[in-house]
Amino acid sequence: MFVISTKAMLQKAQRGGYAVPAFNIHNLETLQVVVETAAELRSPLIVAGTPGTFSYAGQDNIVAIAGALAHQYNQPLAIHLDHHEKTADIEAKVNAGIRSVMIDGSHLPFDENVALVKQVVDYCHRYDVSVEAELGRLGGQEDDLVVEGKDALYTHPQQALEFVERTGIDSLAVAIGTAHGLYSAEPKLDFERLAEIRAAVTVPLVLHGASGLPTHDIRRAIALGVCKVNVATELKMAFSDALKAYFLANPDASDPRHYMVPAKAAMKEVVKKVIADCGCEGKL
Ligand SMILES: [Zn+2]
Repeated sequence: MFVISTKAMLQKAQRGGYAVPAFNIHNLETLQVVVETAAELRSPLIVAGTPGTFSYAGQDNIVAIAGALAHQYNQPLAIHLDHHEKTADIEAKVNAGIRSVMIDGSHLPFDENVALVKQVVDYCHRYDVSVEAELGRLGGQEDDLVVEGKDALYTHPQQALEFVERTGIDSLAVAIGTAHGLYSAEPKLDFERLAEIRAAVTVPLVLHGASGLPTHDIRRAIALGVCKVNVATELKMAFSDALKAYFLANPDASDPRHYMVPAKAAMKEVVKKVIADCGCEGKL
């Protein structure tokens, strides 16, 4: 099997003291680059898509292309549903072959979040699909999900334990001061809180909003139990900055087979850096 769940992958990372990168893919070129680069570096790999990405690129297209690339590069990977909120949507995608899910009920009151996540876990575990859920709120923006920084709430360690026990999730996304999108100032992560969460729960922990985090913060978070690091914005920026530069230098360019080359090269550098930060090279 080349398209797998994240459960064993993240448990192995937890034992090994490294993290698996989850790259948000938006198009064919991003998928090609992340699979090719992970294969070169023998890194475990999660390719992630928000509901917006799946509706843009097409669920069946993503599954087919990611599966084909996995075979071509002999690179097992998880196709992961990032920030999905609707149970019917998740069930349809599980039926289409996806084996890794994030159900995001973090905007709901605690008991409603538990009930929603439990419902998804009960469905997914019948099909060996791994489930991630989030407790607490991140700042910033992911698709149409917007949280005001001042309203963002951090994960409470004891509540995290109750959440994991009542839902049966396989991994927990924590809110410790990261944000989606770009950082306007260097974020101050609450590492003390992360250590308390790690002490309270046994499931692998997930860090969202890693784009633009300094390497030392990512490494410290991994040392404190983070096993999955999500990267979206950094890839998008590298891709579009390279495209903009290419068109500035070549205003008459019209062939995607030419102008995509530097855009892909720029994304490849991001993927290499993230794999180095995660300490997952050679861990496949
Ligand atoms: Zn996220």
